[in-house]
Amino acid sequence: MDENDLVRRIRAKARRRGSRDLVMGIGDDCAIFHPPGASEDWLLTTDLVIEDVHFRRDWHPAAGVGYRVLARGLSDIAAMGGAPRYCLLSLALAPWTDARWVNNFFRGFLDLARRHQTVLAGGDLARAAKLTCDIVLCGSAPRGRALRRDGARPGDHIYVSGVLGGSSLGLRTRRGKAWKVHLRPEPRLALGRHLAKTLKATAAMDLSDGLSLDLRRLCLASGVAASLDREPPVFPGATIADALDGGEDYELLFTLPPLAKPPASFQGVSLTRIGVIRKGKPGAVELLGRPLQPRGWDHFRGM
Ligand SMILES: [Mg+2]
Repeated sequence: MDENDLVRRIRAKARRRGSRDLVMGIGDDCAIFHPPGASEDWLLTTDLVIEDVHFRRDWHPAAGVGYRVLARGLSDIAAMGGAPRYCLLSLALAPWTDARWVNNFFRGFLDLARRHQTVLAGGDLARAAKLTCDIVLCGSAPRGRALRRDGARPGDHIYVSGVLGGSSLGLRTRRGKAWKVHLRPEPRLALGRHLAKTLKATAAMDLSDGLSLDLRRLCLASGVAASLDREPPVFPGATIADALDGGEDYELLFTLPPLAKPPASFQGVSLTRIGVIRKGKPGAVELLGRPLQPRGWDHFRGM
């Protein structure tokens, strides 16, 4: 079983007559809800952050944990080309957490929330053996304009923002600039909106689990295959494996129509063409003519 299989099974069971207002259910970075009569769609996403799975208390400072919890959710809103509005945070504190840790956690969390005009609107508190957070983000996008994973078509060009592998390198070395980008990834919100509004991206998602796995997911959603004709740009000092398979870079992966002419960078973040979407077995990805195995992060692999 892997995460894709599990999501497929849950989605099959959850599919009922459903609500006509739910434009996109399970299977993208966010669900898309269209409130009847509104000029905007709502974007909804939730993410878990668990001690010893997503962070270690002896490695990660509390402010960094708080920042990253919110950054994960914001990045999913960015992936849809949306603007964040509100968030809900449920937090189960572990026996080791003290008032200072909690204060620092919220300092990191709320600094980022303010920077992106995201209001903490509620949540829940509990205790657990390991510190556990669940973040729910609500954002908005102009009606029918949210970016999705399922719009890539053969002939579209594949791009990534920024450089990849820094977070993975940072987690390994825990120093320097790589550790900083691991602790403080920048959700690409302005870029996401630019992709939706100006560059007319056909598909997009955020790179949370590694390019090799996330590109496969985008291709599966779109029913297409992909050929990468160059390696992705690699964070200085990181390996190509960090860039392909290391997760948590929170850069955007997107596709543009063949004739699109994107700038080389947007607000100081590089936009690099790495390949092309093609017809073929859905989800099949090649790098320089060889199959690229999806080795990115999967909680359920081998279960
Ligand atoms: Mg995502």
